[in-house]
Amino acid sequence: MSDKSEKKPSIILIGSDLKMNKDVAAVLRERGANVRVSEVSYSACDLCKKVDELRPYGPNGENICFECGQKDNATTEKMMGRKLFGDE
Ligand SMILES: [Zn+2]
Repeated sequence: MSDKSEKKPSIILIGSDLKMNKDVAAVLRERGANVRVSEVSYSACDLCKKVDELRPYGPNGENICFECGQKDNATTEKMMGRKLFGDE
């Protein structure tokens, strides 16, 4: 017996317009889709200018790529804590 929920496609919404993504996610969930909204966006990194998946974890809230995030892990983790958990 297969579980129906395992067959649900998992949709990840990526984009800079978080509010719109959340609205879209709500509609898709009503239709039974497995949706997750990511705050990741694709653009040019504020630090190295490479076009990549960016996260808003730069030292001053810049949108930065994974590589730049790795260069200063302590700052990235601090910013991530602020964004995700409201840490100060
Ligand atoms: Zn970068």
